Amino acid sequence: MVSASVETRLFINGEFRPSSNNETFDLFSARSGSLFAQVHEASKEDVDDAVAAAKAAFPAWAQLSPRARARLEAESMGRPVSTYFDATMGSDYFRYFSEAAYPQGSSSLNTPGFVNVTVKQPVGVVAAIIPWNAPLVFFCKKLAPALAAGNTVVLKSSEKAPLTSLYVANLAKEAGFPPGVLNVLSGHGPISGAALASHMDVRALTFTGSVRTGKLLRKMAADSNMKNLILELGGKSPAIVFDDCNIDAAVQHTQFSIQLLSGQNCMANSRIYVQSSIMESFVEKFKAAFTSARLGDPADPNVNHGPQADKIQHATVLQYINLGKETGKLVTEEQSAPGLFINPTIFRDVPEDAKIMKEEIFGPVVVINSFDTEEEAIKKANDSEYGLYASVFTKDLDRAMRVATRLESGTVGVNCSGPTKGDDMAFGGQKGSGLQRESYLHSMETFMETKSVMIKVDGL
Ligand code: NAD
Repeated sequence: MVSASVETRLFINGEFRPSSNNETFDLFSARSGSLFAQVHEASKEDVDDAVAAAKAAFPAWAQLSPRARARLEAESMGRPVSTYFDATMGSDYFRYFSEAAYPQGSSSLNTPGFVNVTVKQPVGVVAAIIPWNAPLVFFCKKLAPALAAGNTVVLKSSEKAPLTSLYVANLAKEAGFPPGVLNVLSGHGPISGAALASHMDVRALTFTGSVRTGKLLRKMAADSNMKNLILELGGKSPAIVFDDCNIDAAVQHTQFSIQLLSGQNCMANSRIYVQSSIMESFVEKFKAAFTSARLGDPADPNVNHGPQADKIQHATVLQYINLGKETGKLVTEEQSAPGLFINPTIFRDVPEDAKIMKEEIFGPVVVINSFDTEEEAIKKANDSEYGLYASVFTKDLDRAMRVATRLESGTVGVNCSGPTKGDDMAFGGQKGSGLQRESYLHSMETFMETKSVMIKVDGL
């Protein structure tokens, strides 16, 4: 069990406290399978308390000058908790938004007799619901802009990874955040997540997670108070590899994309389309690179391939692998991996309408199919309900730009693949992969209302 010094209670109105009904849920170690922590499960009453605290804290927080708000945020989040990139990336978000918090409206002389202005104002209480695969990154990516814009926040972490969010809540408390401005709830989606999404006092909901949950949340938002929604959902990202590309670089980028976090990343290129003339050599090189992943204890610095997050994820991925064997050709050798580990798995020549081509697997499983023409590759890549990230590998810039503009995807990587992205570049999904965009330049906008003020001026 985790030591008693690790916080497992809820953070509401500036204080840590047990859940109202004293319920807890068990958190198991992905490494050993043993019980790791018992975390307090937020009830509907806890959600109501957290939202009420955020609502009460909102007027004073919104009235602080951006500089005063920024100082608090930079102090609480400025120091990384570890050397993982999550901590560095997370603190970068707070650093950026602590400097950026001067939202501006516009002015207009286009209505005769008027000087008109628009002002930007925080929406009020923002709810954030985050997944487990990079919890610290999502905590910071969502909260830094929401708080900097003058909103107060209630965040619900994933039941699979609740401890880092509580850790950061502790830092916020130490830094002297005013009570109620930032509240953190642990718990399961259908209880506290659904209560937040349906809450009448929550004015915006920012969510990262699966399409399945995103659809439910959109419905809950519509059925309650039409709260603003920012949805960052899943992917089934295609990579198109043309025969004039640097094949070794294409192999390196595409295998890293699907291997990172054992395939548990939203931008993973799980569908690779390779031009027929280089198909055999690509598959051979890809297999050599992918199967050399070093499986083992995730705490060991030499290991680059850890277990799947929990038993459910592990079982789901195995189910997809079994389905793949029925529909496609398995390129990698069959061998069982211990515990919750899954060996890197490659299928080829899979029919485009097979389930493993259509659904997000979220594991180290990739399909490599071939194509002959540019037109065919684009058609296959776009034949998906997802549209988060797509890649094209070629040395022909004209072709790269032609293909990039036709791919139905929020981000396109040319000669690179997910997770390559720019902090200031809009990030988000087309089609089923989401609503709205997040980034240094876009996130704050989604947490603000734009109000038009019409000013009649005599004699103008
Ligand atoms: P998930 O949808 O199962 O859970 C995400 C969050 O939603 C969790 O906090 C969960 O408790 C909550 N939730 C679940 N059911 C709910 C309900 N009925 N009502 C309210 N809340 C509910 O997703 P996950 O398994 O945690 O994360 C993996 C998914 O996230 C993948 O699909 C992945 O592609 C996606 N993802 C997307 C991005 C992106 O930026 N687009 C980034 C990371 C992960």
